Amino acid sequence: MSSATSASAQDKSGATWATAVNEENAWDDLILTLDGGGIRGYASLLILQRLTHEIVECEKRLQEEEGPVKDSTRHTFNQDELLLCHYFDYMYGTSTGGLISVMLARLRMTVPQCLEIYRQVGNDLFGHRRSVLPLATKYRHKPLEKAVQRIVREYCKCHENCDGHDWHPWNIDDKAENASSASSTAGQPDRICQSICLTATHSGQIDEAYLLRSYPHHYDPLIAPVWVTPYNEGADKLRIWEVTRATSAAPFFFKMLEADFGPPKGRIGFKDGGIRENNPSYTAYSEHASRKGDDEEPALLLSIGTGRPKTSNDGFAAAWPGPLGKLPMVEKWSEKIAVFKNLLIKYTEGENRHKMMRTIAKGEHRWYKRLNVSKGLEDMKLDNWETGVWTNPKTGVKKVVPGGRSLSRMEEATREYLEREEPDKNLQEYAPPRIVLRQVAERLVRQRRLREANKMQDLRRWETHMGQWLTGERKEEEDKMASIPPTSNRASSIRESSLH
Ligand SMILES: [Zn+2]
Repeated sequence: MSSATSASAQDKSGATWATAVNEENAWDDLILTLDGGGIRGYASLLILQRLTHEIVECEKRLQEEEGPVKDSTRHTFNQDELLLCHYFDYMYGTSTGGLISVMLARLRMTVPQCLEIYRQVGNDLFGHRRSVLPLATKYRHKPLEKAVQRIVREYCKCHENCDGHDWHPWNIDDKAENASSASSTAGQPDRICQSICLTATHSGQIDEAYLLRSYPHHYDPLIAPVWVTPYNEGADKLRIWEVTRATSAAPFFFKMLEADFGPPKGRIGFKDGGIRENNPSYTAYSEHASRKGDDEEPALLLSIGTGRPKTSNDGFAAAWPGPLGKLPMVEKWSEKIAVFKNLLIKYTEGENRHKMMRTIAKGEHRWYKRLNVSKGLEDMKLDNWETGVWTNPKTGVKKVVPGGRSLSRMEEATREYLEREEPDKNLQEYAPPRIVLRQVAERLVRQRRLREANKMQDLRRWETHMGQWLTGERKEEEDKMASIPPTSNRASSIRESSLH
């Protein structure tokens, strides 16, 4: 196990960690966490798009250097078709990040598919100004619900004619009151990529953090160290569209989701998780410890932000959507009100969690990494959706479209961030973001290759991870990569990502 004296701890460049994969740690947890931030989740997705590019580069390089994985049917890797759920074991998200985690992990979608969703529904969700009076909210949750039902219908891999009402937990026992009792896999889920949305429940004046997991979880006192945060247990029987609504129900955005679980839980109202905690990385760390105990570190905990906020006081109302930022009077007034302070601080202070995680992980050169666009999105509102010029990555056509200016701005800021040559000393970066991303990709690819190479040790685990048991019987996951014959290896070129 990695201790403070291990080679990867010694090597502050991060290079040793990236390659330190062996038979013992190949199945150690690979965790992705995604911050909240409204439309700015698009920037998180752009970082993930670059990650898929680096993964494909690394897959090709290792295939050349070390040969193809023995008995593998997969020889070509295409960035646009790559599934990140084949590389990560857990994806945590708050608010907009929760929506992304559901799409990537639960619905097993590609990054370009998610980007397309943001561009399509952005207009529905963020294209209209809120009511001028901040407390007289017009709830507009229907577009999100409808959009997610449509996404589920389109991307569901379990049903031939999907009705869009699929459950969020993978296994639901209809007879059991609580899905948790249905599975014996608590502590060791089947190794399919799981989605966990951090949200908050609300009853009266009390808000409490709440996890909506795609698997049942129980805290075993023999394993969980005393310091872990005990969240709710089990798995809540909610539809995927209910989960995405629950995680993104910011007041002033969407009406709170109320779900009736029957006794003993009763009715629970869900608030946007971002109100309580915008950055779910510490939650992911705590949950990992509750599964694996104190002595085990995750193989990787990659935390992705939605752009660094301004740290000054005016960053407060600046990022908050609606008319507040534009009216100096209201802005001043709103900053005095505790509820606004609370909301805005939590939305813009994912960086405090980051500092905490960096301390816990003793730096960022090993298993903990954070990527967050450092410049250019400081005052961008969570619901910014301005018409302007945008270049379609598929056709290369430049056009004025609704939201185009917002999308272009996020693309530009992300590209600058990912192409920066030097680490930012003020942010205590150990390496520039593009190097960090390359190291993350190498670690992910090396673990994937070793998992596949040793799949016969536990074939069911590997097949589950690859999504081959989604329908209850064994079936290849719909996957264009696997069907391409090995001979076309060189011919299939990597399409340049839209970030280039
Ligand atoms: Zn379905």
